[in-house]
Amino acid sequence: MDGAVPMPLAFAFAGDRAEGRRFCVSAPGTGGAQHFLFTMPFDFDTHIHTPLCGHALGEPDSIIEAADERGLRMITFTCHIPMPDDAFGGRGIRMRRDELPVYRRFVDEAKRLGTPRGIEVRYGIEAEIFPEEGVMAQMDEILKAEPFDFVLGSLHHQLPAYHTWLRERGLETDAEVVRHYFKHLESGVRSGRYDSVAHPDLIRLYGTIAGPFDPADYEETIRAALRAAAESGTCWEINTSGKFKGQGPHIHPLPEIFAWAVEEGVSFTLGSDTHAPEMLTQGFDDARRLLEINGVASIRTFLRREAEERPVATAAPESTQ
Ligand SMILES: [Zn+2]
Ligand SMILES: [Zn+2]
Repeated sequence: MDGAVPMPLAFAFAGDRAEGRRFCVSAPGTGGAQHFLFTMPFDFDTHIHTPLCGHALGEPDSIIEAADERGLRMITFTCHIPMPDDAFGGRGIRMRRDELPVYRRFVDEAKRLGTPRGIEVRYGIEAEIFPEEGVMAQMDEILKAEPFDFVLGSLHHQLPAYHTWLRERGLETDAEVVRHYFKHLESGVRSGRYDSVAHPDLIRLYGTIAGPFDPADYEETIRAALRAAAESGTCWEINTSGKFKGQGPHIHPLPEIFAWAVEEGVSFTLGSDTHAPEMLTQGFDDARRLLEINGVASIRTFLRREAEERPVATAAPESTQ
């Protein structure tokens, strides 16, 4: 935490609950007479998976319980959208189309449990960005038919579909792959399908490129994707899961890219990309720092596909009795 936090209390931020909002701790040596009320930066998390994708854990009750412990007041589920082609991953990656009603019931059950605890639950989806329109027809039908609050767009370059697409075009060098990846994000946001681009610099992870990724090598391409996002009103996601994926301790996007995004006028959403209840709000302190360093004062959330601005609270503690 920052130097502004009194030392004896700084340690309180180390625990899980520290990521919540309005966190109250007793000052040591005061017999509980003096409390410090911390205003936490975020009381929402808008990238959450369910076991329906085949690689996440948590039932509605444990997710609501974990959300409450962390001081969350709004959560948005965004499980992986069904795709007709196994090249986008089978049952271990995403639900089948006939399981959509099960997903809806899962979210409704979380709503039922969340409401009495003051937690608003929203219905979202993590859709795919892909360079070929042909495979998008079923996905578009689902996006049209389901009453989603929020639609993320992800280019999961690590899936066989994208590897095949690259191979068939002879695109092999890191430079070619990275340029195409960001060009596809650019056309993705121009399609108007998505409210926000999930983990936008995912190309740096999972081995689709061989070498280390330096954003400076691709500044023009990345800025073009950012300008497209700003022009189309599509957000980019601050996705804190990047810090925990074992290939460099950084949330998405990298600090340089985030600074360019701010310069280009992009707005942001925020999500932990939770695949288990205890992952809710993971890395949110890093997100707060990124926003503060760049002077970004608000984050967008979505309700029925309409954007809302949520101010980011400062980390300064207020003293109470
Ligand atoms: Zn996932
Ligand atoms: Zn996700």
